[in-house]
Amino acid sequence: MELVESVRLYVIETCMSSQGLSVCYQKYFQELLPPQQYNSWIKPLLFEMDGNKVILTAPNSFTLRIIQERFLSALSKQALDFFGFPAEIELRLQKKGAIKIDAPAEAPVAVENIPAAAPKVSKLASKLNPLLTFDSFVTGKANQLAHAAGLQVAETPGAAYNPLFVYGGVGLGKTHLLQSIGNLVAKENSNAKICYIHATNYVSGVVKAFQTKSFDEFKQFYNSLDLLLIDDIQFIADKPGTQQEFFYTLNSLIDTNKQVVISCDTFPKEISGIEPRLTSRFTCGLTVAIEPPGLEMRVAILLQKAANSATPITEDVAFFIAKHVRSNIRELEGALNRIEAYARFHKKVISIELAKEALKDLLAAQNKQVTIDNIQKTVADFYRIKLVDLLSKKRTRAIARPRQIAMSLARELTQLSLPEIGNTFGGRDHTTVLHACKTIDALRNSDSTIEAEFNLLHQTLRG
Ligand code: ADP
Ligand code: MG
Repeated sequence: MELVESVRLYVIETCMSSQGLSVCYQKYFQELLPPQQYNSWIKPLLFEMDGNKVILTAPNSFTLRIIQERFLSALSKQALDFFGFPAEIELRLQKKGAIKIDAPAEAPVAVENIPAAAPKVSKLASKLNPLLTFDSFVTGKANQLAHAAGLQVAETPGAAYNPLFVYGGVGLGKTHLLQSIGNLVAKENSNAKICYIHATNYVSGVVKAFQTKSFDEFKQFYNSLDLLLIDDIQFIADKPGTQQEFFYTLNSLIDTNKQVVISCDTFPKEISGIEPRLTSRFTCGLTVAIEPPGLEMRVAILLQKAANSATPITEDVAFFIAKHVRSNIRELEGALNRIEAYARFHKKVISIELAKEALKDLLAAQNKQVTIDNIQKTVADFYRIKLVDLLSKKRTRAIARPRQIAMSLARELTQLSLPEIGNTFGGRDHTTVLHACKTIDALRNSDSTIEAEFNLLHQTLRG
């Protein structure tokens, strides 16, 4: 992937709101620059947006000069990649006596960064991201169970399911759910000792404890928690030392009725490189999945996000975005941010036309990816039937059902109209296509096998 493209995807994925641009910048430069440079020049900057202008405030004139000379073009380029058009960048010098206040959007970075010296951090709960709560967590069929389990665990920590193990693909809300649990527990019990940690930081913690021979302190810290939220546990794979440590901590917490919530990108038994005794411990509480959201839920999420922003969107526009951005919620947010920024820049209200324009690149890439031929061939392969049969008039169930699935996928994944889709299936009427789509929609709600097969095909086709 080209650098520009990967930067853009990175930026779109990471941004949570227009405020999130600052987090994007920080994260981007943190990865790009050696730590010392990043800490000296980029980290102290204050990022703000004023309309379409990006305002960067430097703490002193020396930093200001360095930014101007060395980083301005990279900053502009980033903004261009993010918005899809050039944004003005204004450099300012911090007024004497003013202090830098961290934007709330930066909180998740801080939260995920609990160092090995964590025992010294007493108010961990305050480091949870206050924006990630149950209130802002939209529910639907895809996450209902996970939401209900999370809520129950937060209301009765240690007493409901222990551990609660949440798994699902990227950008589907695992971190959001873990953080919501932490925030709710903190709200109901201000004395609760809560730790949210990303598994990679837990691994670093173990390594540091080894190096500094501070294992007792490390153990004591984790064993003293009331609630441990550990995110993306798959990252402890192939790290036997960490796994051993985590095994003890997990047992000790569970044995003393202290709540543990774990997230992972796969079902526990499918994570490779993790000891069986650990994976079996993962499943001794409750294991719940978060699935990719369906169309209606994607629309609900967009409407909720937009309602909290200065530029509300209509349901039509939400449907348009949701129809085209299907993979996960993070991408959905990225698309919405892009549209909002585009509207602000052109001083226009958000319409479907504008959304099309703002998402032009994304739509073009999609159209290229999924062709009707591709759908037909993939579905025929999947159900082990012949392509000619799929396109024929045969009506046996073994062929008619895959055909309906292929039609339904064609409606979701291509820009073709119903009559056009009908044509590609051996000249069928558009009402047949419509009927197929309705049948599959209904079946996906009532038949979990069809739902799973449909999702699998959908994912395969989208690459
Ligand atoms: P994961 O940890 O599974 O990769 P995240 O929790 O980081 O996913 O979610 C990605 C983005 O989508 C976040 O900005 C999050 O706030 C948002 N999000 C996820 N699920 C929901 C939901 N159910 N309702 C509202 N926003 C959500
Ligand atoms: Mg996450």
